[in-house]
Amino acid sequence: MPDRPNLRIHFYGVQGSGSVFPSRAERQAAAEVSDHDLLAQVFADLKRHADAEGRISATVEEVLGGPVSRRTLLAYRRRFDVPEPRVYGGWTTCVRIETADGHDIVLDCGSGFRVCAKDIVAKWGNREDRELTILGSHSHYDHTEGFDQAAVCFDPRNRIRICAERSYLKALDQNLGIFSHHVDVNLKGVVTPLHYELMPAQFESLEIRDFTRKPPQGDSDSLANGYHPISEPLRIGATTIQPFEVFHPAPCLAYRFEHAGKVFVFCTDHELRRGDDPEHPLQRASLEAEARLRAHSMDADLLYRDGQFFQAEYDGEIGVSSTFGVSRLDWGHSCVEDVLDMATACRVKHTLIGHHDPNRDWSERNWIDETLRRKSEQEGLKFELARAETVYDL
Ligand SMILES: [Zn+2]
Ligand SMILES: [Zn+2]
Repeated sequence: MPDRPNLRIHFYGVQGSGSVFPSRAERQAAAEVSDHDLLAQVFADLKRHADAEGRISATVEEVLGGPVSRRTLLAYRRRFDVPEPRVYGGWTTCVRIETADGHDIVLDCGSGFRVCAKDIVAKWGNREDRELTILGSHSHYDHTEGFDQAAVCFDPRNRIRICAERSYLKALDQNLGIFSHHVDVNLKGVVTPLHYELMPAQFESLEIRDFTRKPPQGDSDSLANGYHPISEPLRIGATTIQPFEVFHPAPCLAYRFEHAGKVFVFCTDHELRRGDDPEHPLQRASLEAEARLRAHSMDADLLYRDGQFFQAEYDGEIGVSSTFGVSRLDWGHSCVEDVLDMATACRVKHTLIGHHDPNRDWSERNWIDETLRRKSEQEGLKFELARAETVYDL
């Protein structure tokens, strides 16, 4: 691992639709596994003190390496390696990238942004350079809900630049008024008690726009402080970021990051549509978006991609975990099987499948991840279920 990676990618939230944590029963099941692992190792250690008949002749102090105290107990515990239960999902979408040349870039402001912002504030301390770039995917609540809880928004020294498609900027502005300095009197305080007058950071917006399309009608010009054509890469220091449109019920952007030859592709909320009619306009739009995603993912080092369903769930043959089976056509999300095909065809070195379905049982998340890891060994490429609180260096 290099001292200073080109891109250090922190996953704070990878859960789809709403924040999900394991239930009490699921936590107890995970604790049982950990307890078993720990006790098996402790009893293997005790055997060292046993005679031929298995009788233990050592004192507690001899086993522990000193008198019983918090210090000796914890030191004894540290001798044994028990893996922590894995957190699949947790907070909704938020990913942070630290570049080798010192920039912080955040992707989406789901509920994971609250934790992410605390880390940024702690890292910045009192430093002078206090600019954060946020790249938004799309307007849905699970990609914006953490914004008004983020510590970084409440310090007047901070400059926060939000680059996104117009509906993402609008979703933030209509309740908070951070760009237009205006909130409709009927909306003020309705969705959140906060608004621009209570959020002292400096906010700036850059609308990523497809200039080949007709400009939207009726939106206030005060929403965007500037425009950026979707066909052109954004540049932040030595990192180039190519936005591109994917397929979802709301306009949605994915991003390809490149820094010193290392490539990370972030593609949340994208549906490879599986309708019956290949001529259906939505089917065509989805296939075009999938082709763009493939082109941008070719030989990528790391890909994060929506794989919310299995194909049988998408088709409605079965429900997610114990829920009733309904068709997921046009829900805006892809199937795990399609993600694996795509990542294999594009020779993506490491694929993280995220935007987990909120109804997916915890035990099933574990099982899927184990299955993906075994598949990784067969393919020579790496597949995993995305987990919160993980960090990858490129
Ligand atoms: Zn989403
Ligand atoms: Zn969405």
